[in-house]
Amino acid sequence: MEQMKNKLLLEADMADLRQGGCLCGAARYEINLHDQRTSNCHCRDCQKNSGGAFMPFTNVDAGQFRWITKPGGAFSASEKAVRRFCSACGTPLTWEGVNDSDTQSVSTGTLDDPSGLEITSEIYTRSRWPDILPVSGARQYEKST
Ligand SMILES: [Zn+2]
Ligand SMILES: [Zn+2]
Repeated sequence: MEQMKNKLLLEADMADLRQGGCLCGAARYEINLHDQRTSNCHCRDCQKNSGGAFMPFTNVDAGQFRWITKPGGAFSASEKAVRRFCSACGTPLTWEGVNDSDTQSVSTGTLDDPSGLEITSEIYTRSRWPDILPVSGARQYEKST
């Protein structure tokens, strides 16, 4: 019994619960950032979707993420994934792989407090813009990891 209590306490200690959402506030989510992995994606789809050079994504186990209010927008650029976005303000919120349902990828910039999230890898660097330098210390992958 004591052991079980300790385990629960340990889990509570390790939890890093935060919230995030879109620019207009219509879509909201809660995420536990324990053991999160954050990476920059330089693929052409993410450049188009963000309107920028790359998109930072924070990845957690699917069970560590839940919608408080789910966005109305969903789009598949390929058979690989569904991108969910707010249909009112257009903010890209999540990338959900169809064959990778155990992982949830969230646009890092949509967290209310994105502090302390270190970028540990960069993917699809083959389409990185020449002026965008690699993040120091981050593993570099030409395609996906
Ligand atoms: Zn919105
Ligand atoms: Zn991408």
